[in-house]
Amino acid sequence: MNRATASWLRGFDLALALALIVLLAPLWLVRAVLARVRAGRLFDRAEQVGRERRSFVRLAFAGPLPGRDLAALLNVLRGDMAIAGPRPLTVAEAAAVPAEAEIRFSVRPGLFSPYPLQQRTGIAHDPESELDRRFVERLGVGASLGLVVRSLIAGLVGGGKALPVPPRLDFFGVPIVNTTMDEAVDWIAARAALAPNPSPMEQGEKALLAFVNPDCLNIAYTHERYRTVLQQAARVLPDGIGVKIGCRMRGLGLAANVNGTDLFPRLCERAARDGFSLFLLGARPGIAELVAANMRARCPGLMIVGAQHGYFGPDEEDTIVARINASGAGVLLVAFGVPRQELWLADHHDALTPPVRMGVGGLFDFYSGRIPRAPLWLREIGLEWVWRLAQEPGRMWRRYILGNPLFLYRVWRQARQEARR
Ligand code: UDP
Repeated sequence: MNRATASWLRGFDLALALALIVLLAPLWLVRAVLARVRAGRLFDRAEQVGRERRSFVRLAFAGPLPGRDLAALLNVLRGDMAIAGPRPLTVAEAAAVPAEAEIRFSVRPGLFSPYPLQQRTGIAHDPESELDRRFVERLGVGASLGLVVRSLIAGLVGGGKALPVPPRLDFFGVPIVNTTMDEAVDWIAARAALAPNPSPMEQGEKALLAFVNPDCLNIAYTHERYRTVLQQAARVLPDGIGVKIGCRMRGLGLAANVNGTDLFPRLCERAARDGFSLFLLGARPGIAELVAANMRARCPGLMIVGAQHGYFGPDEEDTIVARINASGAGVLLVAFGVPRQELWLADHHDALTPPVRMGVGGLFDFYSGRIPRAPLWLREIGLEWVWRLAQEPGRMWRRYILGNPLFLYRVWRQARQEARR
């Protein structure tokens, strides 16, 4: 960051902190009085590590009531903190920061930070140091203001409060594994490495993996066969902000939004590293091949051992299954849309040999470039679905305009039933 940008940024921080203190003066006063009366002191003080690894005392209004962080605006005025920046670290956390992540200490830590922002909507899949580096590299008034606005919206949508995170969730009888992106990729890699599974007689575990968003859960609510397939699947993973909101309505935390679109590039990287292979089945003619070419370019060494479009007749099924098996793929990705892909995988469960099979919906359309994916800032505020709606309103309005409220209503009913028990 050059000098001029740094001065503008400091001016912005001071102006915003002062404006907030003036605007929120009544709130400040009430919170200060509450701290004094309930906790017997005004501030809690914590030693934290800031710019150039200098330690400072971070102020918070005492006591557990909301509004503790209002006091940290004083830290911004004092120059210990910025409005937006990497998360302030404790002394122990700072000591554990590796040399390659040192760039985070070149700027002031922020009241609002990149990693907690993505945690709010469940998409913090990359290491915190990576998010901090990207933020610091383009730090300026615009980036700071953007982070503040996105954090506020993400807080409203995804919630900021930490809730208990159970290992399993249940929506309408569909069991969902509540896990992180890294664990999900490890799980697939461990099974895919068992490929090839040459003879149907010598099969080991065959794992069906499904991703469910509110639309899928709405379908499962009424579609008995699809629901049964999900119940029998090796794993069902939570996809999208809707599941996170559904969890919040039931007082539960979602570990992460483990959607197929974010998982796919990570799976490709792991496949290239570990040496297992992928077969891509589905989408319009030519699309799966484009995905294969794009991902091979992104991940040198990646083995995509087959690509086949998803518009074939029943008479071609045997040939396609034979091609998939002969490819020796460790992971079969099927993109026919929900619930068709899961039902197809269930129908061919025994005949197929890849140890991991997963339904991935419209994923190939994104990675072929046919349909652009929502920009990161929209995903960070939990509004990827608005982007999808805008792209294909004719096809998507039912799914989102009718489906989202219906899903929330059903979750609310489920929560009420659980509360009665
Ligand atoms: N599709 C297919 N065969 C079919 C019908 C659909 O391969 O008979 C593909 C379609 O081209 C698209 C994907 O299935 O790539 C479904 O995309 P959608 O966006 O509906 O998936 P979702 O929203 O369920 O992730």
